[in-house]
Amino acid sequence: MKLEFDVAIVGAGPVGSVLAALLVKRSVCPPGRVALIDPQPARDGDGADWDLRVFAINRASQRLLAAGGVWDRLPRSRIQPYERLCVWDASGAAGGAGSLTFDCAEIGEPDLGSIVDGRSLKWHGLQAARQLGVIVVESGVRAVSIDETAAQIRLGDGREISAGLVAVADGSESPTRQRLGIGTTGHSYAADALVAHVATAIAHRNTAWQRFLSTGPLAFLPLADGRSSIVWSVVRDEADRLCALEPASFGEALESASAGVLGKTRLDSAVGRYPLRLRTADRFVRERVALLGDAAHAVHPLAGQGLNLGLLDCGALVAVLEAAADPRVFGDRRVLRRYERWRKSEVLPAAAGFDAFDRLFSNADPVLAALRSTGLGLVGRLPLAKRWLAAQALGTAGDLPPFIAGREEITNDRSSLRR
Ligand SMILES: Cc1cc2nc3c(=O)[nH]c(=O)nc-3n(C[C@H](O)[C@H](O)[C@H](O)COP(=O)(O)OP(=O)(O)OC[C@H]3O[C@@H](n4cnc5c(N)ncnc54)[C@H](O)[C@@H]3O)c2cc1C
Repeated sequence: MKLEFDVAIVGAGPVGSVLAALLVKRSVCPPGRVALIDPQPARDGDGADWDLRVFAINRASQRLLAAGGVWDRLPRSRIQPYERLCVWDASGAAGGAGSLTFDCAEIGEPDLGSIVDGRSLKWHGLQAARQLGVIVVESGVRAVSIDETAAQIRLGDGREISAGLVAVADGSESPTRQRLGIGTTGHSYAADALVAHVATAIAHRNTAWQRFLSTGPLAFLPLADGRSSIVWSVVRDEADRLCALEPASFGEALESASAGVLGKTRLDSAVGRYPLRLRTADRFVRERVALLGDAAHAVHPLAGQGLNLGLLDCGALVAVLEAAADPRVFGDRRVLRRYERWRKSEVLPAAAGFDAFDRLFSNADPVLAALRSTGLGLVGRLPLAKRWLAAQALGTAGDLPPFIAGREEITNDRSSLRR
């Protein structure tokens, strides 16, 4: 028997689950008409310790998670708002003339964003979707074909699904994107990001710290239990060397790489390792198909924006489908092109910007080092530039879906969404 849905979402990661929850919560689809397909959906709740993967979630994403009924489900013990961001080049010192510090008080905000446990986000996103009546299908996708009226999905367990629209959110390797023959553009950074939790002698003071070394950026993100989570981008050989160190030596290497900004540093978890690449899909849509999240764009994590961009994909697609109103036209290429134009205009410049930033900062040239420090110090002294950058970090500067931009009434005027 073939199962029929308005929208079938492939991938129950944070992006797929939040999209599923939003579609029903915003009444774009009735309960029972959205399928969420994943061979390995999240199985456990919040875990004994913080997940090795934590996300810096900005204000726009927080509003979106709230709109999908996900934010309020997250345990407060797995959310740490951060109030300050301190960024500096290795040629200077944290808080010195060549560094840049944002404080939420300077822009009249309660915080600059929150560090959220990855496992909790994935689990509560899935649970929110389930509770709203999304059908979770625990299987892989074996084949996808598109015909005049619907997309046909053959599952690994032999079942078949028919849907007016397939939303592809199965991560940066996206087997579904590959199956559909959608190519990608980008390059490998020949570097890996090491992630771990650390205990530090000096308190993090609800501050995210980031030091730019010529080998790549090192970030300390504050956790609610007083520890910090590190994201340390390093070239592959150096990653091999660091991963082979004893925990005590790893802590010493971290302390040295961070110029001791948080004092003595002790490794307090395993070390995770992720290859870094820039990859954007050549098309975000085709007839009956829309790509979201890392399936559409994987970016360098130096600005902590990958998931934030993916969540805004969800918001944009929901807003476009909401305006289209009739599930029979959800897969129509003219409808989906609005989503593609909207998101490409936001995502592609952001991805190029993070890439340029990495080239400028992950560089040992002494002239560039001097320029970086002068540039950071200068921005720190220009209130307007600082305010602009703060809006970028909060995620409130771009073209936001009306329902999270505080312009809810605009959704009643559907013509505003006919892009
Ligand atoms: C080191 C590091 C740090 C980062 N820090 C941040 C940060 O602070 N803030 C931020 O915004 N972003 C951050 N990012 C980016 C963020 O991790 C990604 O953007 C985000 O995880 C993408 O979510 P997703 O749901 O699109 O994909 P994924 O999280 O990859 O989920 C994909 C899902 O698809 C499923 N799947 C795979 N294949 C199939 C298939 N064939 N059929 C069905 N399902 C399938 C998988 O099981 C999985 O559940 C970071 C990235 C890295 C590498």
